[in-house]
Amino acid sequence: MAASREIPHGANGGTALDCDAIIIGAGMSGMYQLIRLRELGMHVRVFEAGTGVGGTWYWNRYPGARFDSESYSYGYSFSKELLEEWDWSEHFAGQPETLRYLNLVADKFDLRRDIQFRSRVTAATYQEETRSWNVTLENGDHFRTRFLITAIGPLSTPTLPRIEGIDTFAGKSFHTARWPHEPVDFADQRVAVIGTGATGVQTIQTIAGSVGRLTVFQRTPNWCAPLHNGKIDRETQRKIRAAYPEMFRRCQETFACFLHTPDPRGAFEVTDQEREAFYEKLYAERGFGIWQGNFRDILTDRKANATISDFVARKIRQRVTDQKVAEKLIPRNHGFGTRRLPLETFYYEVYNQNNVELVDITETPIERITPDGIKTGDREYPFDIIIYATGFDAITGSFDRIDLRGAGGVRLKDKWQPGPQTFLGVMVDGFPNMMMLMGPHTALGNIPRSIEYNVDWVSGLIRHARENNLTRVEATAAGVASWTDHVKALGGGLLSNEVDSWMTGINSNVEGKQVRIIARYSGSAPAYRARCDEVALRGYDELALA
Ligand SMILES: Cc1cc2nc3c(=O)[nH]c(=O)nc-3n(C[C@H](O)[C@H](O)[C@H](O)COP(=O)(O)OP(=O)(O)OC[C@H]3O[C@@H](n4cnc5c(N)ncnc54)[C@H](O)[C@@H]3O)c2cc1C
Repeated sequence: MAASREIPHGANGGTALDCDAIIIGAGMSGMYQLIRLRELGMHVRVFEAGTGVGGTWYWNRYPGARFDSESYSYGYSFSKELLEEWDWSEHFAGQPETLRYLNLVADKFDLRRDIQFRSRVTAATYQEETRSWNVTLENGDHFRTRFLITAIGPLSTPTLPRIEGIDTFAGKSFHTARWPHEPVDFADQRVAVIGTGATGVQTIQTIAGSVGRLTVFQRTPNWCAPLHNGKIDRETQRKIRAAYPEMFRRCQETFACFLHTPDPRGAFEVTDQEREAFYEKLYAERGFGIWQGNFRDILTDRKANATISDFVARKIRQRVTDQKVAEKLIPRNHGFGTRRLPLETFYYEVYNQNNVELVDITETPIERITPDGIKTGDREYPFDIIIYATGFDAITGSFDRIDLRGAGGVRLKDKWQPGPQTFLGVMVDGFPNMMMLMGPHTALGNIPRSIEYNVDWVSGLIRHARENNLTRVEATAAGVASWTDHVKALGGGLLSNEVDSWMTGINSNVEGKQVRIIARYSGSAPAYRARCDEVALRGYDELALA
């Protein structure tokens, strides 16, 4: 076991620590947090499991991986110089471009010198005597720090399906979030895709034209809507750049930090013709408008929701030639927008190709993976490549994989066994000096906007602690109970909370994740920020400070 590396000048509050803060994860959250803590003059270390920066955009290299947020609304807003320097080439940029962007950010702000790659954090234990965290890496190294900041991603722990024989397959197999860095050749290959969530949809529509045969194994069809991506020409780029301040201001005002925000009208406050025309308009528009900019009640009122579900079902029937296949692609167990909406580009038309087959595994379940392919209830399919687009152990999954122990050795996993409990989605009682970025119970939405807010809030709290010689910052049990109750109350009445999905903590491939929880804050982002601002403005008097 390696010895702790003493860096006395990093000490804060009289204790020899290795650094003032440790950030786990070098995605967009961890990168920006590093920038902000450096500005406070702190000595910071970042530990990242991957070999490069970018998080989501480092790992998800599958064919067709791209934004569903408008590119320009997704990038960082904190640096005017960076905004001037970077041009997005498409309204919804692909993964390679976003990874290039995040590498530019790392270069520009010289981030890599404080990031240790290939360094998975396996445990972190709070030490009361020194008011510090002892962080352990997979290789056994230890580091001591005053503050511990988790930036481990809401969607960063991939899960494979629990199917017998998965290790026996003799061909190539990939999880979409662990895609190889080298190109995969699909020519003449017999390819299976398991999973039809947002990632499955992007993969399927992208590879369908280049594979020999494609077989899609679908358990739950998802409602999808057109992305309407397009290149950004010079003139549009100029306009986007000029409009940045106004655009970011708008993102601050909308419900979930997207450019789109709910229409104030209810679905039945207009005539049938007006409603149909509105849906046609939204279906023809770019991005999440049909989900985030729809009538205010489609996600809360069953009848309102049925009107948009019926509309999109009709579109699917129009776009898919074989009506039996179309019916299989129409969701029956949830309404439009009550699960994360995949945006697509000619996804439905893929099923009109002769080389593509859709297998509904609720009718013919997968029995096992064999060395040659996949065996369902009624036949065996031979494959050269199997792609698992089976998603993530979302929101709490990355926390569960670190042995996080707070004061008195309490495990976070045990504390959260009934569901996450947090203060503002940032802190947990019994876990002093630990702050979470994009953890449970915080506002997500168009995530970089939420990242920038959360990082600034956490940085403000740490600045306050350092300026006031505070070495212990903790949420109170009462504060946690009250925020958790608030988050649960906000979830009441939302149709999405009546549906099994990663947003309600369900993952049939993970033991113990079969009971719905409220994992997300579902109020408005402005209301979230107002509450956090209030805590800061009152000198953090709702926290236990010492
Ligand atoms: C395919 C895909 C498309 C998406 N598209 C959008 C979109 O269009 N709009 C949007 O708003 N959001 C989107 N998201 C969500 C996306 O995750 C966020 O936008 C954002 O990138 C999250 O950044 P992050 O830094 O918080 O987490 P991540 O980017 O997930 O980074 C977390 C990092 O922490 C590291 N890590 C985790 N655990 C450990 C550990 N124990 N030790 C060391 N390192 C660890 C991981 O390796 C990872 O690099 C998408 C997600 C996916 C998967």
